[in-house]
Amino acid sequence: MSSIAPNTHTLPSYLPAHELGPWGTYLQQVDRVTPYLGSLSRWVETLKRPKRILIVDIPIQMDNGTIAHFEGYRVQHNTSRGPGKGGVRFHQDVTLSEVMALSAWMSVKNAGVNLPFGGAKGGIRVDPRQLSRGELERITRRYTSEIGVIIGPTKDIPAPDVNTDERVMAWMMDTYSMNEGSTATGVVTGKPIALGGSLGRREATGRGVFTVGIEAAQRIGLDITGARLAVQGFGNVGAVSAQLFVEAGAHLVAVQDHTDTLYNPAGLDVAALQAHVKAHGGVAGFTGAERITPAQFWEVDCDILIPAALEQQITEENAPKIRAKLIIEGANGPTTPQADDILAERHILVVPDVIANAGGVTVSYFEWVQDFSSFFWSEDEINARLVKVMRDAFSHIWQTAQIHKVSLRTATFIVACTRILQSRELRGLYP
Ligand code: NAD
Repeated sequence: MSSIAPNTHTLPSYLPAHELGPWGTYLQQVDRVTPYLGSLSRWVETLKRPKRILIVDIPIQMDNGTIAHFEGYRVQHNTSRGPGKGGVRFHQDVTLSEVMALSAWMSVKNAGVNLPFGGAKGGIRVDPRQLSRGELERITRRYTSEIGVIIGPTKDIPAPDVNTDERVMAWMMDTYSMNEGSTATGVVTGKPIALGGSLGRREATGRGVFTVGIEAAQRIGLDITGARLAVQGFGNVGAVSAQLFVEAGAHLVAVQDHTDTLYNPAGLDVAALQAHVKAHGGVAGFTGAERITPAQFWEVDCDILIPAALEQQITEENAPKIRAKLIIEGANGPTTPQADDILAERHILVVPDVIANAGGVTVSYFEWVQDFSSFFWSEDEINARLVKVMRDAFSHIWQTAQIHKVSLRTATFIVACTRILQSRELRGLYP
């Protein structure tokens, strides 16, 4: 009889323990869910190892004639339930650990809202603000070509994330299609409408944040009318979330982005702030509020806090000072496990990223379906379907949390990891 290797967790050699970063956060989240997986826990190592990692060199010619090399990644964490799905991030601090964690959170998110996708994520270690339009196009096209061996409409479907938008998706779709010799609209989502994009996709993540936020607020007896809102990150997710909450009667009292932190207890004018950000690239210089320090942002007197920028923002340092009753994670991975525990002790309800920001990938799924059938739905139809998916998923996760007396994050992991590992078990191991 052959010996069976012990089913213990060992770290991959390509990611030393001291460089675990966000992947370490994810591993701790998996450890927390393992006791709830019953007999499926024998498959849990599947969740702790990405299925496939591709690291690519991206050489491009800069406008000044020099050749620059950038590092790019595409990680497919799990494809048991369907093709990989997840965004592409352009940021100077992108690391393998970050992309691995983001790809795993996509697996959990997609399974949590029951989309027929696995999880994947990509990124380039570059500050796109330092690139000209031509350089940005060249880096996007070369990256797409390099990862072209593992992406495709039925293999892995990228989408926008931090610092990538529909223009970048158009270049990615075109590059992949040129290499394939036929137009493949379904290879990316978040495309321009004219290229097979979906109505409602741009606002979808913020709309999802708002939808689950309303559901959570109702359950803790928090009235949205007059509620005070603080938002970190005023990009796609933060700005749309803020706008929808303000339309529902809330006041945006504080906002922070990479340029500045602003406070106005009477409420900032969201439309004017959006126009300012569009014109100036950030909230800095907006006159309808006073400036506060970045640290003060976390101490602002508010009812709802939406982190919608980067990961690991709510930490054991600032979690004890947060005054919100409800935190809705627009960003991926904004709360460390230590901060999670502090917030739970303080009875602050956290709606975790893996459900709160799933609106984007849900409408990405609708976009992918529409591209396959070449039949496009109305915006009302898309928004109605999105709201139903988000409400149903939230309700299921809320019930799971009540049954097991766990946080919404662990409940989402219970629902999602059970679905992923059931698929894993049903498919069996090859060979
Ligand atoms: P974006 O590029 O449109 O906006 C990012 C925002 O974060 C900007 O306002 C930027 O100024 C701010 N920011 C960057 N660094 C910061 C810092 N150090 N401190 C404070 N603010 C900072 O990106 P986005 O698409 O809105 O994504 C925001 C978050 O939401 C990310 O974590 C992303 O992974 C997540 N997310 C996005 C989508 C989507 O559909 N766009 C879907 C799911 C999750």
